[in-house]
Amino acid sequence: MSTDRLVDFDEVLTRYEPVIGLETHVELGTASKMFCGCSTTFGEEPNTQTCPVCLGLPGSLPVANAAAIESTIRIGLALGCRIATWCRFARKNYFYPDIPKGFQTTQYDEPLCTAGHLDVEVDGETYRVEIERVHLEEDTGKNLHVGGATGRIHGASHSLIDYNRAGIPLVEIVTRPIPGAGAKAPEVAKAYVTELREILLALGVSEVRMEQGNLRCDVNTSLAPIGSLEWGTRTETKNVNSLRSVERAVRFEMRRQAALLDEDTRILQETRHFHEDTGTTSPGRSKEEATDYRYFPEPDLVPVAPDEEWVAKLLAELPELPAARRNRLSEEWGIAPTEMAWLVNAGAVGLVGDTVAAGASPADARKWWLGELARRANDAGVELAELAVTPAQVAELITLVASGTINDQLARQALDGVLAGEGGPAQVVESRGLAVMGESDELVAAVDAAIEGNPDVADKVRGGKVQAIGALVGAVMKTTRGKADAATVKRMLEERLVG
Ligand SMILES: [Zn+2]
Repeated sequence: MSTDRLVDFDEVLTRYEPVIGLETHVELGTASKMFCGCSTTFGEEPNTQTCPVCLGLPGSLPVANAAAIESTIRIGLALGCRIATWCRFARKNYFYPDIPKGFQTTQYDEPLCTAGHLDVEVDGETYRVEIERVHLEEDTGKNLHVGGATGRIHGASHSLIDYNRAGIPLVEIVTRPIPGAGAKAPEVAKAYVTELREILLALGVSEVRMEQGNLRCDVNTSLAPIGSLEWGTRTETKNVNSLRSVERAVRFEMRRQAALLDEDTRILQETRHFHEDTGTTSPGRSKEEATDYRYFPEPDLVPVAPDEEWVAKLLAELPELPAARRNRLSEEWGIAPTEMAWLVNAGAVGLVGDTVAAGASPADARKWWLGELARRANDAGVELAELAVTPAQVAELITLVASGTINDQLARQALDGVLAGEGGPAQVVESRGLAVMGESDELVAAVDAAIEGNPDVADKVRGGKVQAIGALVGAVMKTTRGKADAATVKRMLEERLVG
């Protein structure tokens, strides 16, 4: 439990100006590791995807993964970076059990991509986030601390190491400090990671599943008194693993640091851990004294020298990026930027786009994804994209409603069937017998039964109280279990009672 004193968020802004910065690690989705041929499949038996290279055995030699270099250059190009014409990998020397070689192969003073930017929008305002560098390195293994209450090394009885992750290509994207966001700093941080994630998805370079650790964020936060010419000391909150947590981590650090600055306490330059359950951070490693990693150029790898033509080709072949796609779609769909922002927040832009491409109208596609389907995803605690229904099936459902085969209520029942794996919408309508009833004998009988069963209501309608007919429509809908068309039922009742 945190015992930190906190200042009200709004009050923080009356005295201090925040500066944030983000370091994002992205595990690339390459089939093999960065410097060896080992598979990168997630969730395999521990230590089954290893070889002498990624275990750091003596005499083994690394070879750089060309697909990983290509992906990194594409990320750099999408962020408007300069691409190095010549650069080298470096050894970052430190000992930790999850790093079997005793050093991490990374890039130091010669990153592959530099000086880019990403514009993000918060509440209709655009913030330009400058990208300092995008470089390529290898991931570490995974330590599992057993026996303690928290899963951290403290209090554990022993630790296990899984090297399956060791050597998976990792791209690090580092922003320059972002001043001037003021009260919006937490949201700008979240918007940046959201937009970056969208870009990585569009490029197809990573699955970017935050919960699987494909995308991990370190969030830097500092405060300086308003009007001060110098920035404050920053803390670095490590491995923040959800978009919402990025925002919460910045918010918490601003409130915590303001309380310390208020009482003239120095902010320690340190890494901090974020706690999902409480939304708080706690101290990790002190960074007051810079660690000397004794970087030096990796002697076992040739330099990377992407030739100009190749880079130009990669640039020309970049897919349409999310911001451009959103602009084009909001025009095509005739919707306001605010509604597009909802779709973005719901992670529904691609789904709606694919549903429209499968033949639905933009309005219907939006209605389904932001309405019924968003509700189902929310109830199930999953992302929209994780629902067991494809955009093509949603389009089919919409077509069935538009053609009058089913109504909205039956469409929801058909959706139940699709989500339960009973097949496509048309198939479920058929197998569950969900089609709207025509003016069949069965419906005539149901209408007559409703009149006979509710003589008082029928008399009221005959006497001129036309609104009372709703109760009879309801009775028919109930006996037909929603399969009748309400408008047809109403007309049939009127023919019998009003004349
Ligand atoms: Zn290997």
